[in-house]
Amino acid sequence: MLDSERPMLLILGGTAEARALAAAAVKHWSDDLRVVTSLAGRTRAPAAVAGEVRTGGFGGAEAMAEALSADDVSLVVDATHPFAANISDNAARACTAAQIPRLLLHRPAWRAGPGDTWIEAADMAEAAALLPTLGRCCLVTTGVQELAALAGIQNMRFVVRLVERPAGPLPLVDAALVIARPPHDLASERTLIADHGIDILLTKNAGGDATAAKLRAAREAGIPVLMIRRPPPPAGDTVETAADALNWIGDQLGGTP
Ligand code: NAP
Repeated sequence: MLDSERPMLLILGGTAEARALAAAAVKHWSDDLRVVTSLAGRTRAPAAVAGEVRTGGFGGAEAMAEALSADDVSLVVDATHPFAANISDNAARACTAAQIPRLLLHRPAWRAGPGDTWIEAADMAEAAALLPTLGRCCLVTTGVQELAALAGIQNMRFVVRLVERPAGPLPLVDAALVIARPPHDLASERTLIADHGIDILLTKNAGGDATAAKLRAAREAGIPVLMIRRPPPPAGDTVETAADALNWIGDQLGGTP
């Protein structure tokens, strides 16, 4: 049993799994646990989260370790996006330094099935090198942050789907912007591919159901998928669902929810 009263659970969030975990932790443990979710603060209108929310970076691993100690954090669940490698590495180092139990919650990666044509790339730079050999009209669902990697590509039309309108123009020669918030269903993915004449899909292996329909739509349309592999996660306890994370919290607290 953890020794302080109402110990603080810090969830590093920004994902559907983090929101599900916050809701479950508040529901099951609110008498025993202060549930705080940390958001990077890049999304202008983030989805509602149960419990308390703090927003903004910590300022690196050392500063995070200091903040965890200063706030008397007892448990950390890193439920950030599988591609958010910096915050996950920082959390691993900070929790080691501050001697705080940490769990990594990453949803399972997608896997190619029969009928899929996937070409894997290690990162956006490798994807940018491969892309011109694979098609002429590319649906891009990798997020806004690394689009500059595609800036030098000529003779390619990009259809860039983002959750929110970006602050500035896209750094691409020929691009259409589609603003849409997941989940995306199969019918709308089929329509998007057909309407724009998409012949290649560039995406990250984020996993999860909310954005998986594009993979089936690509398979049906016979379109290849340029799939960026996940960065390696930090070592340590890892689960794939909010339910398993809740059980880990229960174990740390010395009981079951
Ligand atoms: P990152 O590169 O790991 O994080 C960069 C910095 O942002 C961290 O070092 C940290 O700043 C701060 N930060 C990130 N998450 C935080 C959190 N939950 N609480 C407090 N601070 C946080 O990750 P990223 O920049 O967020 O994203 C990298 C990639 O992940 C994106 O390009 C995208 O592919 C993917 N992503 C996707 C989604 C999505 O919902 N589709 C969401 C997030 C990320 P300090 O060092 O100052 O602490």
